[in-house]
Amino acid sequence: RTRILTGITTSGTPHLGNYAGAIRPAIESGKAADVESFYFLADYHALIKAQDPALVQRSTLEIAAAWLACGLDPRRTWFYRQSDIPEIPELTWFLTCVAGKGLLNRAHAYKAANDRNAEEGLDADAGVTAGLFMYPVLMAADILIFDAQRVPVGRDQIQHIEMARDFGQRFNHTYGGEYFVLPEAQIDDSVATLPGLDGRKMSKSYRNTIPLFAPSAELRKLIAGIVTDTRMPGEPKDPEGNALFELYSAFATAEQSAAFAHALRGGLGWGDAKTQLFELLDQQIAPMRERYDALIADPAQIEAILLDNAQRLRETYAIPKLRELRSAIGIRPLT
Ligand code: ATP
Repeated sequence: RTRILTGITTSGTPHLGNYAGAIRPAIESGKAADVESFYFLADYHALIKAQDPALVQRSTLEIAAAWLACGLDPRRTWFYRQSDIPEIPELTWFLTCVAGKGLLNRAHAYKAANDRNAEEGLDADAGVTAGLFMYPVLMAADILIFDAQRVPVGRDQIQHIEMARDFGQRFNHTYGGEYFVLPEAQIDDSVATLPGLDGRKMSKSYRNTIPLFAPSAELRKLIAGIVTDTRMPGEPKDPEGNALFELYSAFATAEQSAAFAHALRGGLGWGDAKTQLFELLDQQIAPMRERYDALIADPAQIEAILLDNAQRLRETYAIPKLRELRSAIGIRPLT
């Protein structure tokens, strides 16, 4: 079976972009009989951007409940919290010792932080932690430990998957064996990158998100606040690149989407367009929201599912993998 791995960073409340870009396609592809799915809550990654313990804890619960509410079956798939698998940070260190520092210097997230520093006239590396710098190595460990073959990602993450391949290959080469399967990035062009309230990519880091399970009234209010231009009802509007249209399309059938585009070109007012978007989203989300509200009220049940998965996953894959790696590099395997 093909192993597919998807993680979401537990640094905030799950949003529409996480759902349309990660949760929905991952659950869909996980239904295939020839796929073994790994879904994880990336709480070690969260520490890179969120150092508020209550937020990380709350986010972990929310993102876990979101996966379950959206239809993840924790008996047919691996569903775990990254920090419940201590073999992941151990492997991170092994990979750190084969990873080229020069390669990490070119990683997107790190370069982006330094580009911002340059723009603001700050010194290189100001405010950059070693955690941010090393993040591609942790990500490589997440993937390589389970020999995941495919990792669905947005285009901005292709480079990090290539780094995981590079580190895995170097390790294989250094220690002379096929210790790791080299992963491939899976880019699905039908999965759109959703815009947020301000028109930029919807992202927890930009604080422009629409929470996936916002109560109906709040969802309506947030949608009403999406930035539009000043064109009046009756004036034709171009659906291309329009945030309302992009959000609508991510949840609509092809026919619904074509009808919405047609209406915008024909002068549909922004207010009416927002109402239509709200109705479409609310109708689709309502049944999942109901399940989510029930799940979030029972954290002990979620905890039990996560711990059971982590324990089985460690016994099945992580512990034997680290035993093999430890002996390959000349460290005593844990008994
Ligand atoms: P941040 O930007 O702060 O890291 P995020 O909200 O972008 O946070 P991540 O945890 O990094 O979320 O991403 C989890 C998954 O959600 C990834 O697969 C990512 O591609 C997907 N995703 C995140 N934002 C969007 C978006 N706006 N549109 C589509 N998919 C998205």
